[in-house]
Amino acid sequence: MPGLLSNPRQRQFRKKLLAWYDSHARDLPWRANRDPYRVWLSEIMLQQTRVAAVIEHYHEFLRRFSTVEKLAAAREASVLAAWSGLGYYRRARMLHAAARVIVREHGGKFPDTMEGLQALPGIGRYTAAAIASIAFGEPVAVVDGNVERVLQRVGGERMVGEELWRAADHLLDAKRPGDFNQAMMELGAVVCTPRAPACLTCPVIELCATRGELAAITKPTPQKKREIHYALHLHGEKVFLAQRSRQASLMAGMWELPELAAVNDESKPLFTLRHSITVTDYTVRVWTAANPPGAAGKWIPASRLSRMALTGLARKILRKAALL
Ligand code: SF4
Repeated sequence: MPGLLSNPRQRQFRKKLLAWYDSHARDLPWRANRDPYRVWLSEIMLQQTRVAAVIEHYHEFLRRFSTVEKLAAAREASVLAAWSGLGYYRRARMLHAAARVIVREHGGKFPDTMEGLQALPGIGRYTAAAIASIAFGEPVAVVDGNVERVLQRVGGERMVGEELWRAADHLLDAKRPGDFNQAMMELGAVVCTPRAPACLTCPVIELCATRGELAAITKPTPQKKREIHYALHLHGEKVFLAQRSRQASLMAGMWELPELAAVNDESKPLFTLRHSITVTDYTVRVWTAANPPGAAGKWIPASRLSRMALTGLARKILRKAALL
C-alpha cells in the first residue's frame, strides 16, 4: 500500500492483529455464526448505534423475524415496532425492502459478492464489504471510523477517501478477510480509541508509526443543548399519541407524544429526562394537561403500546411513566 508499511511489516501486522483477535475478541452474539442474514442484520443495527444497545435488540428482532423470508413477509409496521429504540428508522425500512428483493429476485439467497450486495436497498460500500468478507470470505477490506483511525495512526499519515480504502485493501489478510476486518474494527473500538489509545496493550505497537501521538486526530464534535417539551395526556387506560408525517425526513410514520410549543398555566410538570441524538443533548420536560392539544392524534390503549412503532424518545418517556 502506498506508504503505510513495507511488505514484511504488513505480514507481521496481519499475524499480530489476528493472533490478538483470536484470543481477545469480544463475545458478541452475531459472531456466533456466519449466516449472511445475521451478519447483515448486525451490520445495519450497528450503524450509528452502540454495541450494548444493539445486543438488546438483536435477539428480539431475530426472535420475531428468524429468517429473511419471515422479514420479507412482515408488515412494515411490525418491522418498525421491532426496530423501536434503535433510532434511524430509514435503516429498518431499507432492511425490509432489501429482504423483499432477496426473496423475490434471488429466491431467498443473499448475493455472495460485494458487488451483488451493494445492489440491494440500504447496502452501501462499507456494509457490502463487511457482509461479503465475513459471510462469504471475499477478500475486500472495510473502512469505518475505527479502521480509519487505526490506519492513520499506524501509518502516521492523514489519509482521506479513496486513500483509506486503498490502504485498508493493501493491509487486508486475504486468507481471513472477515476476521481481519472485524479485528481492525475491534482494535479501534477497544484499544486504539479516539481520545486515549491504550498503546501499551496494543498488539501492533511495534509496527505503529505514532504510538498515541496522534491521539487527538479525531476532535469530538461539540454537543449542542436543547430543551423540548412533551405532553402526556391520560384518559383512563389510554394515552394520547401523535403520528409523525409519512414525509418526515426522520422517523416518518412513527408514533410519539405531542410536542408542546409552549407551556401554559394548565400544564403541570411530571418529570424531566435526558435524551441525546447525534450532536444534540436534549433536556426533555414532560407535562400533563387536561386536554390534548389541537395536534392530530389518537387515544391508544396502554396495552397496545408495546406493539406500536414508537420513537425511541416516546418509548423512554412511556417507560419512565410506567406505561410500558
Ligand atoms: Fe493505536 Fe497506539 Fe496501537 Fe498505534 S500503538 S495502533 S496509536 S493503540
